Amino acid sequence: MEDLKGKLYVVGIGPGSADHISPAALRAIEEADLVVGYRTYMLLVRKLIKGKDKVQTGMTEEIDRARMAVDEASKGRTVAVISSGDAGVYGMGTLMFEVLKERGWKRGDSPDIQIIPGMTSMNACASLVGAPLGHDSCMISLSDLLTPWEVIEKRLEAAASSDFVIGLYNPASGRRQRQIVRAQQILLKYRSPETPVALVRSAYRHRQHILKTNLEDMLDYEIGMLTTVLIGSTQTYMYEGYMITPRGYHHKYDLEKGTVMEGQTPGRQLNTDLIH
Ligand code: SAH
Repeated sequence: MEDLKGKLYVVGIGPGSADHISPAALRAIEEADLVVGYRTYMLLVRKLIKGKDKVQTGMTEEIDRARMAVDEASKGRTVAVISSGDAGVYGMGTLMFEVLKERGWKRGDSPDIQIIPGMTSMNACASLVGAPLGHDSCMISLSDLLTPWEVIEKRLEAAASSDFVIGLYNPASGRRQRQIVRAQQILLKYRSPETPVALVRSAYRHRQHILKTNLEDMLDYEIGMLTTVLIGSTQTYMYEGYMITPRGYHHKYDLEKGTVMEGQTPGRQLNTDLIH
């Protein structure tokens, strides 16, 4: 019965341009006879999926779509479930495992599941504004549709107070406007109003829009469902229009001369007596 074993690919297609989808993702989509995903994402890969069976659904039918994909793959088909960015980052990845688990699926059962990584928005958006992720960072989704708002606030506080660069996913939508206002208030408790902020909408898509601002003024601009908000740490600075978070080389090396600073040793813990 081995030949009846189906295959379930969970595919991240990257931010939306053909240049930023991986060859592995392309192969998985190519191999699939059924492709499942949101309408918008199907449109992004429409050339690849011509002639294949497709199930396109809207945003709110995720569970049905995951169930259906599992059903079809269990029967022996090759199914690709596509998500934008990385499928495991606020995407369909976990839901696929939850549906399998609910059905008592075990490793070795049909279908085989394989996750194909994609470039998440945090990376895609960062690349459009410079090198803001040069030091520790985290992602926080401001969507309280499935997560209690208190939990989100707690994470905002923790990330803000421990000086992470932060990428805010799902920052706002037509109905959800209050969350980003509250996020700004929390961040301003710990960071200067001049902290660099980038608002990147539809990265690597047709309507791409990049806006560089700061923590104080960020709400003067449109922030919506297709925006990722990148917030600098206390170390992040702007140079020639680029947003940069240093890794810390300047603590140890003289970057102009390329020499090690007095009292520091390469390959050893930073001597903090010498930095302020
Ligand atoms: N799985 C996706 C995230 C889905 S959550 C990923 O890994 O990127 C949806 C949120 O992702 C949006 O609200 C927005 O904050 C962000 N996003 C998705 N695509 C984007 C794009 N092309 N440009 C900017 N932000 C994007």
